[in-house]
Amino acid sequence: MGFRTDAIHAGQEPDPTTGAVTIPIYQTSTYVQEALGKHKGFEYARTQNPTRMALERNMAVLEGGIAGYAFASGMAATTALTHLLLKQGDHAICSDNVYGGTFRLFDKIVRHYGIDFTYVNTSDLAKLEKSMRTNTRMVFIETPTNPIMSITDIRGVSSIAHQTDCRVVVDNTFMTPYFQRPLELGADIAVHSTTKYLNGHSDSVGGVAILKRQDDAERLQFIQNAAGAILAPFDSWLVLRGIKTLPIRMEAHNANGKLIADYLSRKEGVRKIYYPGLPNHPGHELASKQMSGFGGMIAFDLGSLENARRFLERVKLCSLGESLGGVETLISHPATMTHASVPVHERNRLGITDGLVRISVGIEDVEDLIADLENAFSVL
Ligand SMILES: *Cc1c(COP(=O)(O)O)cnc(C)c1O
Repeated sequence: MGFRTDAIHAGQEPDPTTGAVTIPIYQTSTYVQEALGKHKGFEYARTQNPTRMALERNMAVLEGGIAGYAFASGMAATTALTHLLLKQGDHAICSDNVYGGTFRLFDKIVRHYGIDFTYVNTSDLAKLEKSMRTNTRMVFIETPTNPIMSITDIRGVSSIAHQTDCRVVVDNTFMTPYFQRPLELGADIAVHSTTKYLNGHSDSVGGVAILKRQDDAERLQFIQNAAGAILAPFDSWLVLRGIKTLPIRMEAHNANGKLIADYLSRKEGVRKIYYPGLPNHPGHELASKQMSGFGGMIAFDLGSLENARRFLERVKLCSLGESLGGVETLISHPATMTHASVPVHERNRLGITDGLVRISVGIEDVEDLIADLENAFSVL
C-alpha cells in the first residue's frame, strides 16, 4: 500500500465488537479472564492495550520496521533505548547537537551508570569513524539536527557502525517517516517524539521507537513492560488520529517552510539561515538524496540577544513557545529555551548563539505568517 493509505489504515481494523471505524480508546486498566490461564491475549494494560498497540503497529509499517513501542514521551522512548543497548562499561556516540533533552539524559543520568559518551559532529564521517571503539554499542544521531539543521548521512553512519556490534539509532522527529525512512537507509532503530509532527496538533506528549531486528524488538517489549513508561490510551488515540493526516500536513509544512526560508534569505537583518532546502545549506545535496522533503523547521540568526528579544516580543501570529511540529506556527529562542541546559561555550561552538531564533512553520496561510514576520523585522 502507499504511504497515505498506510497512514490511515495500517495496524487498524474496525472494532470487533461494534464495527466502529475508528479504534476506540480502551480506557481500562485490566481485562477479565475466562479461567485460569485462559484469556484473549490481554491481561493488564501496562502490558497490552489495544489502542496503544494499534499505534505501535501503524508506526512499524510507516517506518518499515517489524515492531514499534509507544512511550509516555520522546524522552521515555530514548531512555528505554539506552536500557536496550547500553550496559556498564559500554561506550556510545551521539551527534554533537542533538535535542537538548537527549544530551541532558545521556550526560546527567545515563553516564552515571558507567557508560561513556562521545559527542561528535556526525556530519563528518571521518570523525565518527575515529571515535568508534571496540566497546561502542550505540551511535545515536539526529538528522536534521535541532536547531541548526545539519544533515548526517544515515547510510554512511550505518556502514561504519555496523563494522562492530553496534546499533544505529536515528531520532526522526523532524522529518517523520513521510520524508525520511532511517531503517531503509541502514539504521537499526528510529525514535520519535510523537509530541511533534506525528500527533501534529500540540495536544499530546508521547514517544515511539521502531525496530527492525527481532531480538531488539522482543527485548524492547520486555523493557517497555518492565520499566513501564507506556503511552496512555487517550494519547495513543490522539496520535493515531494525527497520523491519518500526516502526509497532507507534512506537504503543507514543507511548502510553507520553503516560502518562509526564501523570504528570510532575502531579509537584511538575518545574519545566517539554516534550512536544508536552501541550495547554500552545507547539507543540501545529501538532504535532497536522503529526504523526500525539507520540512518546516528553520533557524535564523539575528545577530544579538537584544535583536532576538525584540523580534520575539513583536511577533503575534507566530506564538512564542517551546515545541514544534504542530499545525500552528511556533517560534522559540533555543539559547534560553530548548538548549538552556547545554553549556554556553558548547552552544556557541554549535552555532546556537544568543541571536538565534527557531521557527516551526505551521500550515496557516503563508501570507499571514510573512506579514507577521515582516512586522517583527520592522522593530530591529
Ligand atoms: C521534543 C523532542 C524530543 C523529546 O520528546 P518529548 O516528547 O518532549 O519527550 C526528542 N527529540 C527531538 C528532536 C525533539 O524535538
